[in-house]
Amino acid sequence: MKACVYREPFKVSFEEIPHPKISENEAMVKVIMAGICGSDLEIYRGKRSVKPPLVLGHEAVGVITDIGENVSGFNVGDTVVIEPNIYCGECYYCRKGRMNICERKIIYGVTRNGVFAEYVEVPSKFLWRIPENMSYEAAVLVEPLSVVLRAIRHLNILPSDNVLVLGGGSIGAMTALTLEYMNINVVITEIVSSRVKILKEIGIRKVVNTQDPSADEVIKNYFDGDKADYVIDTVGTSGTFAQLFKWVKPSGKAIVLGLTGHKAEVEVFPLVRGELSIEGSIIYVGDYYDSIRLMRRRDFADKIVKVITHRFRLEECAKAFEVADKGEGLKVVFQMQ
Ligand SMILES: [Zn+2]
Ligand SMILES: [Zn+2]
Repeated sequence: MKACVYREPFKVSFEEIPHPKISENEAMVKVIMAGICGSDLEIYRGKRSVKPPLVLGHEAVGVITDIGENVSGFNVGDTVVIEPNIYCGECYYCRKGRMNICERKIIYGVTRNGVFAEYVEVPSKFLWRIPENMSYEAAVLVEPLSVVLRAIRHLNILPSDNVLVLGGGSIGAMTALTLEYMNINVVITEIVSSRVKILKEIGIRKVVNTQDPSADEVIKNYFDGDKADYVIDTVGTSGTFAQLFKWVKPSGKAIVLGLTGHKAEVEVFPLVRGELSIEGSIIYVGDYYDSIRLMRRRDFADKIVKVITHRFRLEECAKAFEVADKGEGLKVVFQMQ
């Protein structure tokens, strides 16, 4: 079968690789659509060490073409999304219900071959059937939406709260759209002008270009002269951390989602005096259920799928990664058929 294989930094190629086999607890999934994520890009840029050759990708929707002997609850022909972090269920964190920080997690496209391939074998425990009327575009975003929902779950949010989202990539955009859907006053910042334009085009109401000299004034106005009760940092760099400390209100909380290898400075004075909380949020724990339930709502899904700005065939994977790496669009997807 064909797959998009990571060879070395800035090099992925469309190659023939052996067809996977399923074990008794797995199902074979023919991939229909798969999304390039920030973590795929970190690998592509050589910033996250993996063992090449490696098939990248962990966000996918597909159809079951074969099932193992012990698999129940799924049939050939079912459309499914993949939960790509295979936790062990036995380590300390798993036993504490914190499967997202499992010590022995097997991750598709990171520690094992991923979903940018024609077929992928998946333990049935990590498959979710999607409703018939859900589009592939909505389904392929169930994984990143689960990340967003977990981050929002960290907040104890009220309709009166102001939220600042730092970074207008696909996760930032989905976070802002979800909070808008909840009728929360949310402002999103982005530094790349082409992205600022897209964020506005897809209908996000309060988008601020941080290059704009009046950016601070604009943010302040959007918050009626106040600061943010919550800041969600989807980037995780020294630049966004500086923004985080500038805008989080004393007693406020910041959630950090951006997963980079960067170091960033923490300002001790406001942290202590303001009793600030800064929390990390990694992937999801049981959020797939809610993500699918939310995506079933047509009015919500119609807004969210607009984050898909580019589509490629798998054979164009080198081009797709170049486009995603430039960061001009939001979500880049592979459409397999
Ligand atoms: Zn992802
Ligand atoms: Zn574990």
